Amino acid sequence: MKNITILGSTGSIGVSTLEVVSAHPDRFRVVALTAGNNLEMLRQQIETFRPQMVSVLSEKLAVELERSLPGYKPEIHHGVEGLIAAATAGDAHMVVAAIVGAAGLVPTAAAIRAGKDVALANKETLVTAGRLIMDLVRDKNVRLYPVDSEHSAVFQSMEGQSRKDVLRIILTASGGPFLNLPLDQLSRVSIDDALNHPNWSMGRKITIDSATMMNKGLEVIEARWLFDTPAERIDVNIHPQSIIHSMVEYVDGCVMAQLGVPDMKAPIAYALTYPERVPTGVNPLDLTALSGLTFFKPDYRRFPALKLAYDALAAGESMPAVMNAANEVAVEAFLSGVIGFIDIAATIARTMDAHEAHALSTIEEALITDRWAREKARELVGLVRR
Ligand code: NDP
Repeated sequence: MKNITILGSTGSIGVSTLEVVSAHPDRFRVVALTAGNNLEMLRQQIETFRPQMVSVLSEKLAVELERSLPGYKPEIHHGVEGLIAAATAGDAHMVVAAIVGAAGLVPTAAAIRAGKDVALANKETLVTAGRLIMDLVRDKNVRLYPVDSEHSAVFQSMEGQSRKDVLRIILTASGGPFLNLPLDQLSRVSIDDALNHPNWSMGRKITIDSATMMNKGLEVIEARWLFDTPAERIDVNIHPQSIIHSMVEYVDGCVMAQLGVPDMKAPIAYALTYPERVPTGVNPLDLTALSGLTFFKPDYRRFPALKLAYDALAAGESMPAVMNAANEVAVEAFLSGVIGFIDIAATIARTMDAHEAHALSTIEEALITDRWAREKARELVGLVRR
């Protein structure tokens, strides 16, 4: 029996994780769950999974939750301290890090410090503090399993291979909803257009990140740290069908790939049960039903955010943290109708221009950098609005 904690259980990844857990009650026990604001869904999860502990965003929500639970009542925490309490909760073997944004960094680091294995969906953790987190993983001798479908595909394509034989990682990208839109129309797309992803159903922030391809940029940085591979050896190919989830090319010219229909339950289950595989209910892949699999290079004029991620990696450790924080502010501003779609990448670029990259020696320093970038990006978003 594996005891698991899910940080961000009310989100898209959290819900899919609980579906995997429900399908295998003999394998998993839920120790702790955390939500942000969605009390209604958390209440249902408490009723079904009976965790020992839960945490919500604020004290007010914690009180409201406590009052409204009809039967079983777990320990209820709140705020960052609550996230840390859940991430480090006694008998969990594995923590699923599925909070969105840099808010996931502190609890994920706390889980690693407490010696928990981590199934990592929260890519922003590695973007904000990649080297520091990987150092911590090594120091604490824990395992970090990728949940992101691309990184799970790379992980699976490296199974049984020697890292020294890897020539190149090829991350695939769907290209999102605006892959074929004439460039001059990008400035006029609506929030609904941007939220309408062709292949994946995900949370709002990552869906916008997919439309700008910042998501792929975050994934390049995530891959750099997870697989200890320099950015020059991480390529991105647009593959609109989202069937090949990523590939690894070896020195002998062989390329290993992982295929499947786009459904996050598969990579989630692999992270939870590695090295075993379990049924997930994911639809079988029928290659004969596909009209074809296509691949091409991304165009940086259409997807400037992807180029910014490579630039951030090249600039130095603090720059990806700045880029990530600016992206979170800009995406939020776009989703609130304050700025337009193409203002997202422009805001990130201007925030990065205002920053002098430096090394990060502690997670606290990464958080200070994150806060600076948020303030700067908010100031720039304000200028766009006026
Ligand atoms: P969602 O927006 O669907 O869910 C986010 C979760 O985090 C919710 O439980 C939310 O709570 C909680 N949350 C949000 N902000 C905070 C905060 N400040 N403090 C505590 N909890 C918070 O996101 P996704 O599930 O789509 O994505 C989660 C992570 O996984 C992201 O990093 C994303 O990039 C990554 N990922 C997602 C994929 C997907 O298919 N969705 C694929 C690959 C990676 P509530 O809703 O209750 O407010």
